[in-house]
Amino acid sequence: MNSQALLAGLPRVDRLLDAPALAALPIRRALKRQLVHTALGELREALLAGRRSVVPGVDEVAEEVARRLDALLRPRPRPVLNATGVVLHTNLGRAPMDGAVVDAITRAAGACDLELDLASGARGSRFAHLRPLLAALLGAEDVHVVGNGAAALLLACTALAGAGGIALSRGQMVEIGDGFRVAAMAAAGGARLVEVGSTNRTHLADYAAALDPDPSDLSSRPASAFLWVHRANFRQEGFVRDVELAELCALARGRGVPVIADLGSGSLGEGVPGDEPTIAAALAAGADVITCSGDKLFGGPQAGLLAGRAATIERLRRHPMARALRPGKLTIAALHATAAAHAREGAPDLPLHRLLAADAASLRARAEALVAALGWPAEAIARGDATIGGGALPGEVIPGVALVVPGRGASASALARRLRAGDPPVLGRIHDDRLLLDLRSLPAEDDDALLAALRGLDRT
Ligand SMILES: *Cc1c(COP(=O)(O)O)cnc(C)c1O
Repeated sequence: MNSQALLAGLPRVDRLLDAPALAALPIRRALKRQLVHTALGELREALLAGRRSVVPGVDEVAEEVARRLDALLRPRPRPVLNATGVVLHTNLGRAPMDGAVVDAITRAAGACDLELDLASGARGSRFAHLRPLLAALLGAEDVHVVGNGAAALLLACTALAGAGGIALSRGQMVEIGDGFRVAAMAAAGGARLVEVGSTNRTHLADYAAALDPDPSDLSSRPASAFLWVHRANFRQEGFVRDVELAELCALARGRGVPVIADLGSGSLGEGVPGDEPTIAAALAAGADVITCSGDKLFGGPQAGLLAGRAATIERLRRHPMARALRPGKLTIAALHATAAAHAREGAPDLPLHRLLAADAASLRARAEALVAALGWPAEAIARGDATIGGGALPGEVIPGVALVVPGRGASASALARRLRAGDPPVLGRIHDDRLLLDLRSLPAEDDDALLAALRGLDRT
């Protein structure tokens, strides 16, 4: 049969909508109709291209559309088990949220005093409570909050660039995830970018030169601000020269230009291994404003934190872009609860910090219990080399314990696919063609769910 004749045999839209599989679904007819059109379009294309030679029946198409509707309407995103060994995994939602933080979000879900001063009945600020708490916690004169780390960078650079633009070392032109580059984000609001130094070596004199451009070059102007970016996801070695943030700030102060320090991960120091730069250290070094994410080492919700000098933060707060980037009430509630957790004595009792703090003995005990319950051999327990991820401590591993999933003839990628297809999906890491399930990134509360998923794997 030629393809035109096949096309003529495709089920009609109304017959599909009235087929039992679709008619029974309590979903808007217009939505069903949209999906039916899409499915028919795909079938038409497949028939024309010769990828299909048989026209499916009404029920077959209707059932496929019903399956698609079901997939579309399942609650998303779905919870997964993070056994990748990357504790802050951007693809898996970064910092896991604490129960108390989730409670705070729930409390703010209905009507709340977001922008109302209950004492006077007058309009208030959504930052009224968060601002002084975060400022005290971060040791900053003032703090502002936006939707994510990139937005914080964008706001700071746009508001502080001035006519001369922002000077940034070529050695700090970091590309973060998904092809996004710090330099491009910094300039996205119209800030002029002045590149200084070279990829491997930038000297203080390079920054100074950006403030005193060659007078014979009529197009160049003195830079109005410096941007210092933490190399969040790579390290440089060899013939390398870097300017310390404190050195840069000393130069800037003498010349009256502000320094923006993009820290990326925003560590408070407590409960974080390695020597990731802390917010307090960057402020002590003299940065006028630091920017970082709320859902990296701070261990909170997606947010962008800006902390620094009162006058600088006030400029940011009053910039029109601040209104476009402001966080919603759920973010504010979650950040407040996260900040309150940081305020308590001792290491922060947040899921991220609990994962980072888990000692080798407790990880080993969990692994042994899992392996015993599964009847796996003792060799299924291996050393796990976890990383923090999320733009922190590049190249550094946090030792721990991992399970090696017995292959029984299946390749590591086939095993990984099967575990991803489970409910809940389990995400591991493939190393040397073995599938590793790293317990460092998996909260101990998830062990039962992991056990069930692995038992399911044994059955398939
Ligand atoms: C992660 C990161 C950002 C972006 O932060 P988001 O919260 O992901 O928007 C910016 N700069 C650096 C150095 C980072 O590591």
